Amino acid sequence: KDPVVCRGLGKTWAAGTSRAHEALKGIDLDVKPGEFVVLLGPSGCGKSTLLYLIAGLEDVTTGELNHFGEPVTGPSPDRSLIFQETSLFPWLTVWENVAFGLSIRGASHAERKEAAVQALREVGLTAAMNKRPDELSGGMRQRVAVARALAMRPKVLLMDEPFAALDVQTRQKMQDFLLDVWRDSGATVLFVTHHIDEAVALSDRVVVFTSRPGRIKTIVTNDLPRPRD
Ligand code: ADP
Ligand code: ADP
Repeated sequence: KDPVVCRGLGKTWAAGTSRAHEALKGIDLDVKPGEFVVLLGPSGCGKSTLLYLIAGLEDVTTGELNHFGEPVTGPSPDRSLIFQETSLFPWLTVWENVAFGLSIRGASHAERKEAAVQALREVGLTAAMNKRPDELSGGMRQRVAVARALAMRPKVLLMDEPFAALDVQTRQKMQDFLLDVWRDSGATVLFVTHHIDEAVALSDRVVVFTSRPGRIKTIVTNDLPRPRD
């Protein structure tokens, strides 16, 4: 039973209306436990749509989508989605932001604070726990967003171009940081990007979205370490 299995998966936005728009069709994908999968493809090819479906934020139109053998029927803390813009609450402190998602689980104040501090420790941000989001840099805010997701102890971490708004240097640091977090957490990661350099830097396994079967004829593996390894 794998964390994500798609069989003939299709999604039509606004299905049954005059604005109906087919974004995905016939997607077959298996993601194994603990994999770091990069979904690479040009804008508009359906990467975000796929993450929305896996997150359970949108209904599947055709085919099957299973999470550990169970059909995905709605959102779950087990499948956490991180967006390009962090959407942190500006009026809450860093630790309160991280603890926010845990309140749905009925945890006590002390339990939530402890879980938040632990997640902030994993992203190296305990020193900033009492600050507000607007006192942090863009890279730090995205680390808070990662901590907020980690605090839920998700089995699957879904990331939709999470570093797109950051400058190139910060983005490279965040990629290294994310790989460390991934190795430590044991979570399965699906990471969406349209930047081939980002896909190469992060690649454990890259899934290329293409509408032309057979176009990708050869996978070449360069056995040299990646530039920043
Ligand atoms: P990507 O993430 O690869 O850029 P998206 O999944 O965002 O691609 O979009 C795939 C297609 O679905 C695009 O044509 C886009 O306009 C459309 N789409 C995405 N989200 C919605 C939505 N909420 N309603 C209608 N169409 C959408
Ligand atoms: P991405 O940066 O992932 O490609 P977009 O900029 O295409 O995302 O879309 C941003 C938001 O707008 C998403 O929530 C997406 O679902 C929604 N969206 C995209 N295309 C459409 C559309 N044609 N109609 C309605 N909503 C859309």
